[in-house]
Amino acid sequence: MTSVKRQVVAPLEQVAVFNPYDGSLVESVSTCSPDDVGALLERARQGAVISKALPRHRRAVILEAAATLIDARREEFAHTIVCEAGKTIVQARKETLRCVNTLKLSAEEAKRNAGEIVPFDAYAGSEARQGWFTREPLGIIAAITPYNDPLNLVAHKLGPAIAGGNAVLLKPSELTPLSALKLVEILIEAGMPQEIITVAIGGADLGRAIVSARDVRMLSFTGGFATGEAISRSAGLKKLAMDLGGNAPVIVMSDCDLDKAVEGCLSGAYWAAGQNCIGTQRILVQASCYDRFRDAFVVGTGHLKAGDPGREDTHVGPMISVAAAERAQAAVEQAIAAGARLLCGHQRERAVYHPTVLEGVPRDNRLWREEVFAPVVMLEPFETLSDAIRMANEPDYSLHAGIFTDKLADALEAAAGIEAGGVMINDSSDYRFDAMPFGGFKHGSMGREGVRFAYEEMTQPKVICINRE
Ligand code: NAD
Repeated sequence: MTSVKRQVVAPLEQVAVFNPYDGSLVESVSTCSPDDVGALLERARQGAVISKALPRHRRAVILEAAATLIDARREEFAHTIVCEAGKTIVQARKETLRCVNTLKLSAEEAKRNAGEIVPFDAYAGSEARQGWFTREPLGIIAAITPYNDPLNLVAHKLGPAIAGGNAVLLKPSELTPLSALKLVEILIEAGMPQEIITVAIGGADLGRAIVSARDVRMLSFTGGFATGEAISRSAGLKKLAMDLGGNAPVIVMSDCDLDKAVEGCLSGAYWAAGQNCIGTQRILVQASCYDRFRDAFVVGTGHLKAGDPGREDTHVGPMISVAAAERAQAAVEQAIAAGARLLCGHQRERAVYHPTVLEGVPRDNRLWREEVFAPVVMLEPFETLSDAIRMANEPDYSLHAGIFTDKLADALEAAAGIEAGGVMINDSSDYRFDAMPFGGFKHGSMGREGVRFAYEEMTQPKVICINRE
């Protein structure tokens, strides 16, 4: 098999990838420096020519074959995710299966979404014209990804980009590059010409150099707000897709199935140790059932086992680093100092931060307003649904929200009133299906992922019009 790790141009030095749970060295990988970006782009330019020339059936066959290969080696992929990202093995298996699906959906998109007839005769005076539009590649797409879903979030960029006939210059998170490298190896094994994807491992300096390169036609970024903001300042004239953070609210109405709401919120809040852009961060509970929900939620949280992500019975693995866990702990300390009440959790062993529940967090506190990206959840009572919707909408960015209720009218009122890219009814905020449009509302979000939607962002329509006169 061709080694993706050796494909980079003049690798400068090595970056060590550490296991977030025990701090052990997992592997070292060659990095690129900002000075390498010219050569990386040269390779990507060749990739763009090759990719554009691939017939759609070839793109589909490659993507489908890669999905099959990953499925066959899913334990190995899941193990890599556990080692580099600290997700529990159960969660890592789920991410791997989602990646298989993302690639299959991308294969379908390559075959299905090639353009449309344009109804020229719908415009008086154009009766003699006939034509269509095609979906053409953009050329080189730069993809920059975060650490928290190191496989499937990369697949969400590579799959649609390949389906659309593009080349990709991929810079995965320097903390978790191994799943991305394995995915690219598999695509090559599945028959993808290697120049189509150029992988560059490195940190912010490398990212900055890629972002500002003139030949990059689109930058598809998933990561934090501060990085997104820095990128938008330096990107220049190119298409930007920004999948940024969240601070998801879930509303619990007193008429709902409370056990189901508790179970859904436990999973939504603590999946991937809360390092999840659609993770449930604020649970707004109708006052008449607040005490019952709180007691059950705290008991449920106490039953969760935090620790070794390699064990089948672990529910909450480590955060990505000791520093990230310390930051979460400090944010909680600060909220407590500002008046919040700690209901459970808050202990830390190295990078493992135990699931933490707070109530009474002041609504101007950072924890309420910003993304915490940790296994920390806040409970807050409300009286009426309109109060809850107002509270849900307080932060100035949002990805997903949820509501548990037995009343259709309330569910639909929340769906209409909550400003978010998705409102999940009788589910926590943490539901995503890889074919649906996925992205945020309000500050910072640009574009949508979800295979069809990313594919459409990553292609450009070209109109062909025939004048029969
Ligand atoms: P991050 O913003 O720190 O890093 C993301 C990527 O950007 C990394 O590859 C990093 O090396 C690179 N980078 C850093 N500075 C850069 C710069 N100046 N120019 C170019 N690239 C640069 O994010 P993270 O800590 O890895 O991930 C967590 C964040 O990602 C959270 O905010 C989370 O909500 C968000 N996220 C969003 C989604 C989504 O789909 N909306 C999904 C997952 C994670």
